[in-house]
Amino acid sequence: MRAIPVEDIRSDEGQQPGAIELRRLDGEVKGIAFRCPCGCGYESWLPIKPDERGWQWNGNAETPTLTPSILQSGLPCKWHGYLTAGEFVSC
Ligand SMILES: [Zn+2]
Repeated sequence: MRAIPVEDIRSDEGQQPGAIELRRLDGEVKGIAFRCPCGCGYESWLPIKPDERGWQWNGNAETPTLTPSILQSGLPCKWHGYLTAGEFVSC
């Protein structure tokens, strides 16, 4: 599923599965909010940090790649997959 960059994850367009919002602080991306690609409707937050406590981002806002994989362990759906080159791919 294609990730859909939106201005605001809480907006109407941010409700669609796979919507992503890059949040900046002082011009730097600090994390990515996204609407679970499984369709469960939940919003999640991925902190971008240059160490092992956060995700690594490739710096591309349109076709982002995050590592490592994303596990929705706190959600009922338990979605697990990757965001690679702007695509959500389930494991
Ligand atoms: Zn889900």
